[in-house]
Amino acid sequence: MNIGVEVSALKGVGPKLTEKLNKCGIFTIYDLLLYFPRDYEFIRSDVEVNEIDGEEKQILTCRVIGYDRDVKTKSGKVISVIKFDYKGNIVLGKWFNQRYIRNSFKLNESYDLVGKFKRNGKLLEVINPMIGCKDAKESEIIPKYPLKGDLNDKIITKIINQVLDNVVITDNLPKNILDKYNMIDLDTAIREIHFPKGKIELSKAISRLKFQELFTYSMKLLLLKNNLRSNDGISFQWHDELRDLKESLPFSLTEAQTKVVRDILRDQKSKYSMNRLVQGDVGSGKTIVALIALFNVIKNGYVGALMAPTEILANQHYLEALKIFEKFDIDIELLTGSTSAKEKKRIKEKIAEGKPMLVVGTHALIQEDVEFNNLGLVITDEQHRFGVEQRNRLINKGRRPDVLVMTATPIPRTLALYMYSDLDVSIIDKLPPGRKKIDTRFYSDNERNSAYNLALDEIKKGRQVYIVCPLIEENEKLELNSVEKLYEELKEDFFSDISVEILHGKMKPKEKDEIIGKFKENQVKVIISTTVIEVGVNVPNASIMIIENSERFGLAQLHQLRGRVGRGEYESYCILIGNAKNEKTKKRMEIMTTSTDGFYISEQDLKLRGAGEMFGLRQSGDIGLVLADIYEDIDILRCARHEANNLINSKERENVKLCSEISKSIERYSRYICFN
Ligand code: ADP
Ligand code: MG
Repeated sequence: MNIGVEVSALKGVGPKLTEKLNKCGIFTIYDLLLYFPRDYEFIRSDVEVNEIDGEEKQILTCRVIGYDRDVKTKSGKVISVIKFDYKGNIVLGKWFNQRYIRNSFKLNESYDLVGKFKRNGKLLEVINPMIGCKDAKESEIIPKYPLKGDLNDKIITKIINQVLDNVVITDNLPKNILDKYNMIDLDTAIREIHFPKGKIELSKAISRLKFQELFTYSMKLLLLKNNLRSNDGISFQWHDELRDLKESLPFSLTEAQTKVVRDILRDQKSKYSMNRLVQGDVGSGKTIVALIALFNVIKNGYVGALMAPTEILANQHYLEALKIFEKFDIDIELLTGSTSAKEKKRIKEKIAEGKPMLVVGTHALIQEDVEFNNLGLVITDEQHRFGVEQRNRLINKGRRPDVLVMTATPIPRTLALYMYSDLDVSIIDKLPPGRKKIDTRFYSDNERNSAYNLALDEIKKGRQVYIVCPLIEENEKLELNSVEKLYEELKEDFFSDISVEILHGKMKPKEKDEIIGKFKENQVKVIISTTVIEVGVNVPNASIMIIENSERFGLAQLHQLRGRVGRGEYESYCILIGNAKNEKTKKRMEIMTTSTDGFYISEQDLKLRGAGEMFGLRQSGDIGLVLADIYEDIDILRCARHEANNLINSKERENVKLCSEISKSIERYSRYICFN
């Protein structure tokens, strides 16, 4: 059986079932094999009576010893009760509204009942038990698949079984690696993850597949890196006007910025393509670094592109570029989703021409119909919001352009090495001088008024205020303060004669921009917002950030939000309002109030929450990790990367062949396990 064929080729899979499988993302046999259970149900059979705890499902072989009369409950349900014997104990089997159930049970015969058996005095009770199969094994592990629609575990189990009966999965890891780490082969691993014989077998299968994912992931990045290294890029000269630009800036660059600019200019000059990550905490001044890099490329006669994750941010970068490049004759355009059709057409034609210019934009830049010519440098801001695929789409619009990615999410160094191992890394590790420390405080819910009084004081001093809530519409169940509700509340009381505006993700980009624009011009004093304000917005006059329900946010996110204030010369505050009843929350809030070091905070956040959640890695599917977690499985990752590296650098003929096979199958299958 060829694993590349569509599921409809399977026996018993007609058009209807095919459609249902497609909805779960299963198109080919290959997808089916890699459609792992999300969980398992462990069923133990014929345990001793004193081990029965009512928590786990069990299979017990019970003998029918009698029938009770049906009972009618107040709500009109009919309960049928059958009495069984289990190793000398009486078991009451109860069924609701199944009047004919006793026809299935003959007196004195034995049946395997599956269910949770609870103790009730001397009796055991089980409600709506299923009748298990006679040949129940010692212990059974039933896979639970992540299903959509009316697919059920039975159907999917049946077709996966059919596939497993007809395929042999060839291993693609060299035997010496398997032996070295004492791993089972791929074929067994795939079989065991679907239908484990026991818990030990299951955990071996998981380890092997985690290794597989992380090995493939490492291969992917290492190959990409090798590829870029060997790519001839454009060699840009250092343009004379660079000095004039630096002199015209309203501030002098910090040492940290200068160092990073130097790294970048060196890359630009080299004959290889640049592929660099710039990490710098919020407010460290990444934008100017990006603009200098773009300036040099444009002055060398090429097109530079700057991509931001939101329109607000793209807009801000555009305005900043206009200001910084004012005296330097640089053509600048802004392309976003809300650019009018007519404008879009004009800008696209211009980009396609390939005359030296700067184009700033959002995802609109990577739409298929945007054609670049002469693209020299691609910069993506706030990289953690984009996936590798999106980055690649922009890169592929040019012929070997230089690539710079910027992020404010401080990723602990070890992790960064693995996550971005295809990139060189520069870090802006100091903030510009004169930044005031942000006074961060935690207020419990009943101290909220103090927070708003503080905000009023700041407004009296001429400052501005951000208030952030986690949700847009009120959700009674979660009792979160929604933007709208809070607006009404504050308008009635604290801010009755102050101009307040709302900002949230469901608004049109144009409306959002208008509000941010007014806030920047200090016409609006208070913005009540969801986290759309999180990345990049720069309003130095804002001095206080109030975060409602702060316990609902990740620490890295709180740190990002806090970074919206303290950007000017004023004393600034970040007030975290919330409920810190449990220990973990208390600890998290304490980290926030005592530290302003983004790296430290993110490391703590990682420890408390795990990498998958923090970076949305698992959800993005972008790097193809399903079972493995980069942070939790860092030990496996280290080994996998080490082996991948060895394999790539090996000169042995066998290995060179293997390596090329693996890289081909990585290309062919977007997902992580490659086997033929
Ligand atoms: P981020 O790294 O978060 O993107 P920005 O680039 O938005 O930070 O910079 C934050 C603020 O710091 C901006 O107002 C910017 O003009 C200012 N800034 C950047 N570099 C310097 C510097 N060397 N000295 C003083 N202010 C600077
Ligand atoms: Mg920024």
